[in-house]
Amino acid sequence: MREKLKYYIETWGCQMNEEDSEKLSGMLKAMSYTRTDIKEEASIIIFNTCCVRENAELKVYGNLGALKKLKQKNQDLVIAVCGCMMQQKGMADTIIDKYPFVDIIFGTHNAYKFPEYLNRVKQEGVRVKEIADKETEIVEGIPIDRESNIKAFVTIMYGCNNFCTYCVVPYVRGRERSRKPEDIEKEIKELISKGYKEITLLGQNVNSYGKGLEPAIDFAELLRRINNIEGLERIRFMTSHPKDLSEDVIYAIKDCDKLCEQIHLPVQSGSSRILKKMNRNYDREMYLELIRKIKNEIPNVGLTTDIIVGFPGETEEDFEETLSLIKEVEYDSAFTFIYSRRKYTPADIMEEQIDDHTKHDRFNRLVDVVNEISAKKNKEYEGKVVEVLVEGPSKNDASKLMGRTRTGKLVNFLGHKSSIGELVQVKITKAMSFSLMGEEI
Ligand code: SAH
Ligand code: SF4
Repeated sequence: MREKLKYYIETWGCQMNEEDSEKLSGMLKAMSYTRTDIKEEASIIIFNTCCVRENAELKVYGNLGALKKLKQKNQDLVIAVCGCMMQQKGMADTIIDKYPFVDIIFGTHNAYKFPEYLNRVKQEGVRVKEIADKETEIVEGIPIDRESNIKAFVTIMYGCNNFCTYCVVPYVRGRERSRKPEDIEKEIKELISKGYKEITLLGQNVNSYGKGLEPAIDFAELLRRINNIEGLERIRFMTSHPKDLSEDVIYAIKDCDKLCEQIHLPVQSGSSRILKKMNRNYDREMYLELIRKIKNEIPNVGLTTDIIVGFPGETEEDFEETLSLIKEVEYDSAFTFIYSRRKYTPADIMEEQIDDHTKHDRFNRLVDVVNEISAKKNKEYEGKVVEVLVEGPSKNDASKLMGRTRTGKLVNFLGHKSSIGELVQVKITKAMSFSLMGEEI
């Protein structure tokens, strides 16, 4: 029997990219390919790229260069590069010129055509470069090969209309488009029939879900509809933009039993002056007011955020306002970023760019404060009993199991292997800096 052909896929960036990779995997498996984690074994290598920060791009260049040798050894190897980085002006041409061993280049809007591109390369021996400038209609029904069989990401909307001045996402992912609620429900029901217990609804700005759909629907209503789906245990969602998170959504979390008490609410900066320059459309006071409302309605809510330091014009006072906001909110955890200049974004041509030394100094001070608060928040769990959805063996200690609380905390605990895929009660015995330890009861 002929050995099955294998593919290798590497993904950089956010959950959106991960989901796109799961679709590419789904299409390849439908063509009888199997996945490998060893590049040398693969007959197709795909790099799904990210360009949200410069670092992400540099990693792609480094990894691409290393493929040259593999191609020299195996002329039949097909190398494909796709994702957000390819959507940037001129990037696809640069890759074509600089990396003659790359066979296929495509962007975020036409990934569903990958099988067609692959066939062209194999049958006609040509190189394929196709980037769609404009977002297409949402393509439904692409097979998805998911990483987990317990929890799944379900995209509810694509693109972003916000144009925060530092961000490339609206340029590379296009304008907001929402999936029809029926299509979302259908996907979730299929997942439940396969045994999935938890779904995370994905979008760059999920709170503006529904724009342009007929009949009219908003995000809170979508949440309530999904909460009614039988067999589903947990619902999460990300990302929420503070300007769009409505009271209705807060009440939906409060009312709906399956909606987990967790909100990822990127603040980016604690200074109203910087928030204005970022075009975030809220100020410090509005954000803090929203947090107060959330904490009032949903006690013990898990709160996480994204923070950027070193945005153009950020003074020491602005930065200290960020630190004081973090201390006031007391986030469970935060993704912290050093501002990265991105071509074609308004912030790239702003004056008063901050020097690297100052950026790194602020970043280190920020991380110290964030970590100190995370540890303190974790400590509050010691001695408590929490519900955990068991995902599998612990990453670092196979004798233990791991899963997450409803509030999103990672728990490593002693428990029964038979609990994998189930909701169990776990007593927290010790808080670590970034996780909790416990015992199933
Ligand atoms: N749509 C989401 C997240 C998009 S990108 C939101 O609006 O919150 C994820 C995070 O990357 C952003 O929240 C921001 O904190 C960070 N980010 C985006 N562009 C950046 C840049 N140019 N430099 C540094 N961090 C950036
Ligand atoms: Fe980027 Fe802002 Fe859109 Fe988030 S909301 S994807 S940060 S432009």
